[in-house]
Amino acid sequence: MSFLSVEECVATLLDAANRVERPVIEFVDLLAARNRVLATDVVATVDVPPADNSAMDGYAVRHSDLNTSDKTTLTVSQIIHAGVQVSPLEAGTAARIFTGAEIPQGADTVIMQENCQALDDKAQVNIIHSAEKGKNIRRQGQDIQKGSVILRQGHVLKAADIGLLASIGIAKVETFKPLTIALVNTGDELVEPGQPLQAGQIYNSNRFLLATMLESWGFNIEHSHIVGDSLDSTVQQLSKLSKNADVIISTGGVSVGDKDFIKPAIEALGELDVWKVAIKPGKPFAFGSINASNNNKSIPFLGLPGNPSSVFVTLLVLARAYLLAIQGLSQQSIQKRQQPITATAQFARKSIKREEYLRARLSTKIVDGRLTNIVSLFENQSSGVLSSVSWGNCLVRQEVGTAIEKGDSVEVLPY
Ligand code: AMP
Ligand code: MG
Repeated sequence: MSFLSVEECVATLLDAANRVERPVIEFVDLLAARNRVLATDVVATVDVPPADNSAMDGYAVRHSDLNTSDKTTLTVSQIIHAGVQVSPLEAGTAARIFTGAEIPQGADTVIMQENCQALDDKAQVNIIHSAEKGKNIRRQGQDIQKGSVILRQGHVLKAADIGLLASIGIAKVETFKPLTIALVNTGDELVEPGQPLQAGQIYNSNRFLLATMLESWGFNIEHSHIVGDSLDSTVQQLSKLSKNADVIISTGGVSVGDKDFIKPAIEALGELDVWKVAIKPGKPFAFGSINASNNNKSIPFLGLPGNPSSVFVTLLVLARAYLLAIQGLSQQSIQKRQQPITATAQFARKSIKREEYLRARLSTKIVDGRLTNIVSLFENQSSGVLSSVSWGNCLVRQEVGTAIEKGDSVEVLPY
């Protein structure tokens, strides 16, 4: 099987994502829609604001009633608070008006109250400083116009989007149901946290790392027991999980050791499309599918390495775009989530043979009077050192055949 570059691997996975059925659509309350993906375009059925309204506390007037070079005294013909229906403004008068209140028909300008003086027990107003025609009025539809698409299918709903949907009167939205991802951690040496550790054992950190990352991206997680290093138990567990899960992700056992059974297990249960990628850390990465044991469905399968840092890097760099795509995110929404930036390297690295993702910390510093992104590496880049990921907040991408000198501009993937 071919040994893919990072770019080829991501492209292969994204291509495969096009062949995966869209998730089920769920109609959910706005407050339950956070982090969910819109299943349809949303078209506004109202203008926001629905009518011209005042941006200030002050007086609504006809601009033509104002003296251009002097003060103007006008009778106050009505008082308009927010939330009330208004009648047209009588010619030659002013309306006392408050922020958010509708502009009466006939008025075309609001003078802020700081530029006015109330007279005659508020029956009249002296406009001391005039304003340009149209000033201090928020126009009908200035935020959203009736008939416009405010959010597109494939958009991930954040706080502002939820507020925006509420602003056009929508209480429920059609979203893609979060996919359920089943996690399998392989390794005879693994023990769950909370248990005593015997000689030769280590704690299963991958389950927690993976579940937390995936949940933060909006997925549901199905946890399962640790799977020992045998072909039988690996096949059995994968087959069992294929009944309910939308996707299966494993860790460990995907390399070429005597006790690595993921590859033969997938070959027995379905197909392996990708195995091994030119990435460091994380070379033993697998992608394929499992034929569900209870129906004709083909369940996507991602086999991640065992080392926790490799799990983190391969999930972020290789698997994330694919998972988000099959969850229904548009390409635009996916890109928005993983926009690389540049920073000035505070370190040097020799040229390398496999594309490398270095665990690093991004910060800012004033250089020559300008705020500048700088990036420093965690000392120990071993794939078994999860502290590097915890310490850092980004990955530095080092391309094949390129050395990095201190002061070079490098590509950084924040997380
Ligand atoms: P493997 O690919 O199965 O040989 O695993 C590579 C390395 O990752 C070994 O040192 C394993 O002990 C370690 N490892 C595998 N799975 C986990 C896990 N779930 N949590 C922490 N370390 C793991
Ligand atoms: Mg193992």
